[in-house]
Amino acid sequence: MAGRLVSETLTKLSQMGDVTLHEPAGDSPQTERKRRSRKQEFNLNDCVAHLSTPRGPKPVMKSMMTTACERNCNYCVFRAGRAKTKRVTFAPDEMASAFETLERSRKVDGLFLSSGIIKGSVTTQDKIIDTADIIRNKQRYRGYIHLKIMPGIEYDQLYRSMQLADRVSINLEAPTSERLAALAPKKIFIEELVQMLQWAQQIRQDHRHEKLASSVTQFVVGAVGDTDLELLSMSDKLYSQAKLARVYYSAFGPVPGTPFEDLPATEAIREFRLYQSSFLLRDYQWDVEELPFLPHGNLRADVDPKQAWADEHLLRQPIEVMSAERELLLRIPGVGPIGANAIISARRRGTLSELLHLKQIGIRNPQKVAKYILLNGRQPARQLRLF
Ligand code: SF4
Repeated sequence: MAGRLVSETLTKLSQMGDVTLHEPAGDSPQTERKRRSRKQEFNLNDCVAHLSTPRGPKPVMKSMMTTACERNCNYCVFRAGRAKTKRVTFAPDEMASAFETLERSRKVDGLFLSSGIIKGSVTTQDKIIDTADIIRNKQRYRGYIHLKIMPGIEYDQLYRSMQLADRVSINLEAPTSERLAALAPKKIFIEELVQMLQWAQQIRQDHRHEKLASSVTQFVVGAVGDTDLELLSMSDKLYSQAKLARVYYSAFGPVPGTPFEDLPATEAIREFRLYQSSFLLRDYQWDVEELPFLPHGNLRADVDPKQAWADEHLLRQPIEVMSAERELLLRIPGVGPIGANAIISARRRGTLSELLHLKQIGIRNPQKVAKYILLNGRQPARQLRLF
């Protein structure tokens, strides 16, 4: 009997397939999306994504408690009233047993759990929490769990979710309340979303000795006139004030049967430049104003933002690699945190005077670096000497 129930649950799970396609959860969001296999209509593998998680690369089960929703976000495949959406709902013990079966058979080692909203956010979040509670406390699973936070839940629910998970997603969707009203008319920007992000940071500060989840957010990019300047300004605030682990940018794609079905899709290059810029804000301590915005507020699509800055600032004033501080070394295109550390350690041992020396310490493309630097007082020859 129990075996039949598990088998029925796995069938339901495979019918849902890749329902979280538009919700990135790992550290390489642009490689995370995959298309459902055409050979079989339903395939359990569609709900397994290979993610780079804070605990390393893992096959993660990505699913939803329900694909029904009472809200009406204009871009969403699950919005209320969209006839084409197949609605599938799980009870917490069903979802937990499906996860246990896949985890014990070593098909997955990690869970990303989202949901549509039914009977309000508080009731929905309780179901997510109950599922994670069963997995952590009855099944004794100690691996990676990433939970979605419903808009406007209670403080104690957020705290409990953060105790159970490694990571929580609190998706702002838009960078301002006006943009959110156009995207998701029933979501309330400050009270339901921004406040959740602030609470998450408050909870981490108030319970410093507890192991609590980090938080992330996601923006839907390009459907309602949002600019890169708006998106990156809000990202910058969230990194510094709400201590977000990362921000996801999801290029808008029109879904048939939604109010936005005739809007053009956002180009993938825009999403890519947003990710590049977001890392400069988070990992390289750049200010938003230093990014190469065009007059209408979007980034230049034709050039890497770090290179655009360097072309403007470093071609006439190259950086002396033998003496520059780490922060300045990180401004050189082709030099990241690992490369900057390698330079600092190598120059303590000797003189870096040729591109070959940079290659030897792990700078992958010294030719790219050459025009922005001085090596021991001299602009390096662009050709690497082989001997
Ligand atoms: S609340 Fe979530 S699932 Fe529901 S319509 Fe909005 S984005 Fe879709």
